[in-house]
Amino acid sequence: MLNEKMLGLGENRSVIREIFEFGNKRRAEVGAQNVYDFSLGNPSIPAPKEVNEAMVKLLTEFDPVKLHGYTSAQGAPDVRKTIAQSIEKRFGIEADMDLIYMTCGAAASLTICLNAICNNGDEVIALAPFFPEYRVFVEKAGAKLVVSKCRESDFQIDFMQLEKAITKDTKAIIVNSPNNPTGVVLSSDTIKQLAKLLEQKQKEYGKRIFIICDEPYRELAYDVEVPYIPNYYDNTLVCYSYSKSLSLPGERIGYIFVSPKIEKCQKVYAAVCGAGRALGFVCAPSLLQLTVKDCVELTSDVSVYKKNRDLLYNSLTEYGYKAAKPDGAFYLFIKSPEPDANAFCERAKKYDLLLVPSDSFGYEGYVRISYCVSTEQIEKSLPYFKKLIEEYK
Ligand code: PLP
Repeated sequence: MLNEKMLGLGENRSVIREIFEFGNKRRAEVGAQNVYDFSLGNPSIPAPKEVNEAMVKLLTEFDPVKLHGYTSAQGAPDVRKTIAQSIEKRFGIEADMDLIYMTCGAAASLTICLNAICNNGDEVIALAPFFPEYRVFVEKAGAKLVVSKCRESDFQIDFMQLEKAITKDTKAIIVNSPNNPTGVVLSSDTIKQLAKLLEQKQKEYGKRIFIICDEPYRELAYDVEVPYIPNYYDNTLVCYSYSKSLSLPGERIGYIFVSPKIEKCQKVYAAVCGAGRALGFVCAPSLLQLTVKDCVELTSDVSVYKKNRDLLYNSLTEYGYKAAKPDGAFYLFIKSPEPDANAFCERAKKYDLLLVPSDSFGYEGYVRISYCVSTEQIEKSLPYFKKLIEEYK
């Protein structure tokens, strides 16, 4: 007998995958240039040239046995040291290399953190709309996902809702800013208010409540600062990834940073190491660890995303679509002109516009548009977006 839950997860493809498969069918039928696929969050710009150069150098000059060998379970010491120094320099917080754990990207960072802190019956809050895999990760860690919806006007936190969602069983809240799927960056005022509320609730319930910040989009922010949550709230675990910042999603590399401000932070770090061990996530890819060490403060040229954001946001709002202005990531979240976002996405397919309905993000009536595509694709798609909204006038 198989594990029914795992079987279900394996057999049911995600909505985004379904749309992508539909896109493949249409690309074969009408040509790739005529399909406006805005479904996937796969970076469309290459990694900085320094990334490839670092890899070539490592492959040709580094001791090959060491290069392809196991590192320490939590990651090579010199890699963790470089990352810790960079965190100190960039965010002005003390960062010890022995509080850094190298991972295979944000997904692994999240599952490790959740398994490190959760026990059966714990609750973990996700702020909707949220990355759909949170539910899978939280439930696999034995906890229950509790959803608290963001304000519709600007997709900042709705504190009335959040306060109601926090109970004596709350173990953590996942914060993702810049956000997938809205692109919204939580302001420093929002983070301050969040920290205040959580501190108050910790006192009320006499227990620790963690913030798990999911940060794959930290470097993709346009003209705004992304507050560094450990500077605002002590009980914070940072889940970082190079998937989007260095355009390396297929290489699987990231890290966890356990804030030194957590009481008995070494114990929390030990639990992170234990969860990494139990999940079989020890020793992130050695070549990639060494590559990011050499490129620790580099970012892909994200100016293309900003250009795409401006073009898409300005054009669609001019046509009559409603959206919160995204300050980061590479997503635009528009309100569906009809209550059922699935029906709207079906209608969009008529123009070969492939969009993702928001239901799987825990927020109905919206559509996610991933603008990590060529600017030319956006330019060519605009007349179809215009025709599409005109059908509702
Ligand atoms: N968290 C969010 C919000 C994401 O959008 C993604 C990927 O798209 C991930 C986590 C997983 O990132 P990674 O590729 O680093 O595992």
